[in-house]
Amino acid sequence: MRLIDGRAIAATIAEEVTAAVADLTAAGTTPTLAVVVPTDDEATAWYVRSIERTATKVGITCRVDKLDHPDGETITKHLDALSADPTVHGIICQTPLPPGVTLDDVGAHINPAKDIDGANPVSLGRLAAGLPTYAPATAAAVLEILKREQVPLAGTRAAVVGRSTVVGKPAALLLLAENATVTVCHSRTKDLAAVCAEADVLVAAVGRTHLIGAQHIKPGAIVIDVGTNPTSDGGLAGDVDPAGAERAGALTPVPGGVGPVTTMLLMGHTVRAATS
Ligand code: NAP
Repeated sequence: MRLIDGRAIAATIAEEVTAAVADLTAAGTTPTLAVVVPTDDEATAWYVRSIERTATKVGITCRVDKLDHPDGETITKHLDALSADPTVHGIICQTPLPPGVTLDDVGAHINPAKDIDGANPVSLGRLAAGLPTYAPATAAAVLEILKREQVPLAGTRAAVVGRSTVVGKPAALLLLAENATVTVCHSRTKDLAAVCAEADVLVAAVGRTHLIGAQHIKPGAIVIDVGTNPTSDGGLAGDVDPAGAERAGALTPVPGGVGPVTTMLLMGHTVRAATS
């Protein structure tokens, strides 16, 4: 089994994005990303710092708008203002949101042309309709890794475990758009192992440490592990048991797989938004 190096893929994308940012900046447009942070949360703060660092590295201006105990209306008004601001090209609204506020409520206030993490339900609808849009960056990262690893998708059997709006569903739609035959699994799927074991490409986006073991993996399958589950020692574990994945053809590690590609694709999407 080969480990897929997400950090190396992210570094390659970084080179492409840096060159595109330099061209845009020389032509008078500085690609600018706004990250709205509505709650105090340690994991979010860590992630936002990583977005800021990545943006700085590729030359994108990143503004972090920390809102002080906002209600839903304050958040949506802020997103409306950013959506109308011509100096802002990409907008992310970080979760968790305050109690009673849902991502659907606030996502609808992100201009789809700036919705670089696919949070507006319109973006998901466009994805389902096969129209140009921004897929959520994590789902886009799954496809980007498969493409950069030159994994054939047309006609292959793919299984996605997880059907969330942010990862599972859009990943399934992106695989379908590449002409894979896609099965979407979830908590009510019967005999999950048997369904997964038929897949040439297996995407795990569940949030359960090492749920996926040897019995779920077809020999030679390409396995993309989206799971990021905190461990007791402060680290991260995936949804796939690396020991069980020995029979796979390739596996994305956690950490160092999907995560770095996701963050870099937020930059790629911001450049695209600044160009269009
Ligand atoms: P989520 O909203 O909690 O969705 C989890 C999905 O897994 C649901 O569809 C659920 O089914 C399904 N599920 C739960 N237990 C299952 C089981 N025993 N068997 C089969 N399916 C099961 O989670 P999410 O936001 O999609 O995130 C999934 C994982 O990806 C998490 O670990 C998260 O931290 C990680 N993540 C990583 C990145 C990254 O950049 N690497 C980004 C986002 C998320 P039901 O629909 O039936 O409940």
